[in-house]
Amino acid sequence: MSSEANTPVLPNCIRLPLPEDELMEVVAKAKDYAIMHGAAMRSKTAFSPDSLNFAPFVLVPSSFPRKEFEKAVALQPIINRLMHNVAHDEEFITTTLAETIKVDEFTANLFNIYRKVLAHGFTQKISLGMLRSDLMLESCCPELSTQAQRPAAGEDTAVDGMDVALAVNSVGTAAAGTGRKAAAAATEQEEQLKRKAANPIQSAYCCWKQVEINTIASGFGHLGPASKIIQRFVLSELGHADKLHNMPSNNALAGLCDGMVKAWDIYAKPKAVILFIIEDVSYNICDQRFHEFYIRETYPHIKVLRRTLTEVHKEGKLGQSKELLLGNQEVAVIYFRAGYEPGHYHSQAEWDARYLMETSLAIKCPSIHYHLAGTKKVQQALAQPAVLERFINDPDEIKAVGKIFTGLYSLDDNEAGNATYEMALRTPEKFVLKPQREGGGNNVYGVDIPDALKRMSRVERSAWILMDLIHPPLTRGYMVRPGGDMPPQIVEMVSELGIFGVVIGDAEHIVHNYQAGHMLRTKLSTANEGGVAAGLGALDSPYLIDTDEEQN
Ligand code: ADP
Ligand code: MG
Repeated sequence: MSSEANTPVLPNCIRLPLPEDELMEVVAKAKDYAIMHGAAMRSKTAFSPDSLNFAPFVLVPSSFPRKEFEKAVALQPIINRLMHNVAHDEEFITTTLAETIKVDEFTANLFNIYRKVLAHGFTQKISLGMLRSDLMLESCCPELSTQAQRPAAGEDTAVDGMDVALAVNSVGTAAAGTGRKAAAAATEQEEQLKRKAANPIQSAYCCWKQVEINTIASGFGHLGPASKIIQRFVLSELGHADKLHNMPSNNALAGLCDGMVKAWDIYAKPKAVILFIIEDVSYNICDQRFHEFYIRETYPHIKVLRRTLTEVHKEGKLGQSKELLLGNQEVAVIYFRAGYEPGHYHSQAEWDARYLMETSLAIKCPSIHYHLAGTKKVQQALAQPAVLERFINDPDEIKAVGKIFTGLYSLDDNEAGNATYEMALRTPEKFVLKPQREGGGNNVYGVDIPDALKRMSRVERSAWILMDLIHPPLTRGYMVRPGGDMPPQIVEMVSELGIFGVVIGDAEHIVHNYQAGHMLRTKLSTANEGGVAAGLGALDSPYLIDTDEEQN
């Protein structure tokens, strides 16, 4: 993905660049601060269970429009309810995934577990959903092009009296904010006017679109709040403590862990434990251990166990009432931080372990139907007209949720799927192609799409969906990485916000439903994907700014 020349740029929260000596000092301090506050990971290149590296982070928080942030937060309980209802709609899940499971072995294996559980009846009717709805600002909203032409948001306005307001990106101005030369500005202005005449209005503030919804292993419950802690420290060190009030509070760790404990309460066995299902090697260890430690510190009577799928296969069995037993310890709640990709299932043993847990009395996060509800194929189906009405009653809520979907297209082997195929070959640069996978690194972008599609048979295509590419506005700032340049250079970046939600209930009733904090990940604008654990993204947190309308 590369940023286009006319991509809007969000204003910075403070004036950049920083003087080099000040930058060197604050970065060195911030690295130590990050490690010492658990904003850290195990090294993939020099792995040791005895040590941690700081996780890559953006030095100061990236701007995010306050209105859009608040909209996302307010919408989360509705999304929670939507996903809960989808997960419990057997017919919808079955018909939506029918073509996909013919060609996608992994989804088929999950679906087989679902089918078997359906046949025998659910031992545990309650599910624990810990969701994360990921979104990006869309700087090119279709809604805006219908409005009268007006100056692009924030143009030539100042934020907090600074002259680094929304500028239109001119390629090669890496050190933004140093002041623009008058001649360059005049040319730029002419260019803008020309572009406005030719293109739909672009605005860094206009709206956001959902990238995906995660129903399994939604990470960053700890690293989300930890990012704020580092950046709060940095802003204070740089003499900007007055700006901290624009960094929204973030209680994601407590929100998620309290969700697990609410499920543990429902299970109502004081000696039962919470089980985390983990990968063979957990690089993102802080984002799991902090959950465990929070539970122990806040609820001293509750024990957390960590096991791989392989270990559950060896140690696990069902008791008389189908309770899950590990040795002699009964499991009340299972929190899957693994099990979302084929590589986590080394053999049939791991699939058997998943089935064992699914048929047990333990409350699962996610239960198998929740896992299937989080597939990309289901997301694509939800974005089709009139489908939301099946799951949401309130017309205003339907409208609000409908707006967050960008174009999502089926590639099933039928007329609609074939039309999608032709469209993707014609204008691949507008799209991203996604398989039914989680965890990053699986998608195909833009010009690579035609080759990828042509390699598949018509039937194989139904394992994938096509999605409109979202065009987020840029931010400019310093990204600090282990082993990176010192001092770091100013780079152009884009961000992705994740809003957490917790929902607990069965097919008939929802007993808990709340928004549970957020996380912001930021990547170089030239990178397709920005997984922090995958080494491409960096921890970040939102700095809320007001829209141009409010400032005027
Ligand atoms: P995964 O389940 O592997 O995380 P995602 O759908 O979240 O898959 O895609 C991975 C990353 O790819 C996202 O975090 C985002 O950076 C980028 N991405 C995904 N969909 C889009 C899109 N429609 N437009 C722009 N970027 C996207
Ligand atoms: Mg994702």
